Amino acid sequence: MPIFEYRCKDCGYVTSFLEKFNSRQTHACEKCGSKDTAKLLSTFAAKSGGSSSGSSSCPTGTCPLS
Ligand SMILES: [Zn+2]
Repeated sequence: MPIFEYRCKDCGYVTSFLEKFNSRQTHACEKCGSKDTAKLLSTFAAKSGGSSSGSSSCPTGTCPLS
């Protein structure tokens, strides 16, 4: 399950949540309780199509060192 990060639009605090891809759940800021949060694009271990072996941690497979 990927980790999504939400940034509070009120205080700027970023909270990370484990969430399903298709979830439309809204999250409240852990700091001030505001529900006016914006989802950030965060890195996570993608399992889409990649069949690369080894210990590559590149999420896109396009890193020059991978
Ligand atoms: Zn907040």
